[in-house]
Amino acid sequence: MPGPLEILKFLPKTNCQKCGYASCLAFAFALASGAADPKRCPELDPGLLPQIAPEKKLPEEDFAWKVLEEVKKKALQTDWQEIAPRLGLEMLGPRELRIPYLDLWVRLKPEGAAGEDGLELDPRDQILLYNYLSFAGNAPLSGEFVGLEAFPHSVSKVATLRRYAEEKLAEAFTGRLPALKQALDGFRTEVPALSPADLSVIVFVLPRVPLQINFFEGDPEDGLPAEAKVLFDRAAIRYLDLESLVFCAERLVERLIEKASH
Ligand code: SF4
Repeated sequence: MPGPLEILKFLPKTNCQKCGYASCLAFAFALASGAADPKRCPELDPGLLPQIAPEKKLPEEDFAWKVLEEVKKKALQTDWQEIAPRLGLEMLGPRELRIPYLDLWVRLKPEGAAGEDGLELDPRDQILLYNYLSFAGNAPLSGEFVGLEAFPHSVSKVATLRRYAEEKLAEAFTGRLPALKQALDGFRTEVPALSPADLSVIVFVLPRVPLQINFFEGDPEDGLPAEAKVLFDRAAIRYLDLESLVFCAERLVERLIEKASH
């Protein structure tokens, strides 16, 4: 397994942050530990992948399962009965919770989380849900929506949000505003007070984690691409860490694209 400095030699060293890390060196460290996927650097020549990520590298999926076990342990230290009402969760038993997540209903137990319809959840979704529990947020939502850049220490996460949520949403729904509106069916949504966007909607990814999507159609015929901006309630940081907030946006976008493709 190559070390971080060896891996760094293969990276473009532009520190553009499109990978979601603050610098190429930070990304090299994450690659060396097996915590990151080399494909997250769009500037990297795919031909170099075998040198950067040899077969024995820990797959990102295995890493996620390990993180999940840690996050679950932490969530189990909280009093579920006490935090359920303020997190908008339904108590089904002393150690069983029901939670609306995206457009799904999920049951959370000490041994794991699964969709009510039996849907298996990706470990990354489960990490998010148990993180939400262990944060045990206790602040009223502000009703004021701000860009991720309004939160402290968010510079590298803003780049991730841009690439893996906002640009992805804009690309997928360019010239397809009706499809986007249709894909939002089944989500808990609200209409924001005022917005200059062609579509502006507040979507609850989790009961206390609403995201505002502002979608500008652009004019593809005139070469003006669509644009999207994701905003967060100013109090969102009391319910999840920055990385999890960005993940909420990524999953929301993935789910909308998935629904629109059916
Ligand atoms: S995406 Fe990350 S690793 Fe790739 S050039 Fe930009 S900062 Fe460096």
